[in-house]
Amino acid sequence: MTIRTGSCLCGARAYEIDGDLDGVWVCHCSLCRKASGSVGNAILIVPLDRFRWVKGADHGVTFALPSGYPVTRCRTCGTPLPAETDETNVYVTAGTLDVPLGKGVRTHLFCASRADWDRDEADVRYFEARSTGGGVS
Ligand SMILES: [Zn+2]
Ligand SMILES: [Zn+2]
Repeated sequence: MTIRTGSCLCGARAYEIDGDLDGVWVCHCSLCRKASGSVGNAILIVPLDRFRWVKGADHGVTFALPSGYPVTRCRTCGTPLPAETDETNVYVTAGTLDVPLGKGVRTHLFCASRADWDRDEADVRYFEARSTGGGVS
């Protein structure tokens, strides 16, 4: 069985996921855009019995907001790490995976709320890496 690993930016928190997943869900709602500071949250929905912390399980801090939308981040580096759960699943922030998923985006949610800048302009530029280099992959 495939085991995939993930971690936060500073490495204080790390997790493993057993088995293959269907793909990524991207939520474009206004809360996810604010919480991520980006286009929204890219999420993997993982059954609880296939997810486990291998490091730093207690190293998160959860902000309970008036909206009822909880935000959990690494206590040291602030990376939004999996964390929100329901009775059956944990919602894993896809960007924290350390290895390929083998699947792409399967579902976009709240597309009507999508930021108007969340699209490519006709003259968009693509770079394989940033021009100054520096150990980032
Ligand atoms: Zn961290
Ligand atoms: Zn959302």
